[in-house]
Amino acid sequence: MVVEIPAKTIHIEHATCRQGCDLMAPDVKIHGHPSIKVIAEHEGQRGPLYLDPIYGSFDHVTDLDIPEDAVVQFFCPTCGESLTAEGDTCNSCTAPFFLLKLPRGSVVEGCLRKGCHKHRLKIVDLNAQLLRLFGKDSLESYL
Ligand SMILES: [Zn+2]
Ligand SMILES: [Zn+2]
Repeated sequence: MVVEIPAKTIHIEHATCRQGCDLMAPDVKIHGHPSIKVIAEHEGQRGPLYLDPIYGSFDHVTDLDIPEDAVVQFFCPTCGESLTAEGDTCNSCTAPFFLLKLPRGSVVEGCLRKGCHKHRLKIVDLNAQLLRLFGKDSLESYL
């Protein structure tokens, strides 16, 4: 089930890689919230990149020099596994998506092309129905 949630109404408090490693970085805050740390790679450059935990915001912090429109790769900083979503590509620019696991089987995906702001949240849970009815406050406690 894919739930359409307006951008910037919620922030992600818990995200992991597919192996379950915690990706939250409380030491690096973006917009006042702990960011999501990944290792980004682009044409031989490799280093930490901190994603804005606000869903739908593409602000991020990194020392890497990534040109606009470049497609990057994300890896888990702990186990090194690729965060690329298998079999899913961006329907606006065809680049791969990255995938972050959220609690209770939900995932958030985003486009790996810098400057493309395609993203979606998939809630794999019956509660999604309730969330749709009750709005963002219940979703915030859910995440
Ligand atoms: Zn990991
Ligand atoms: Zn895209």
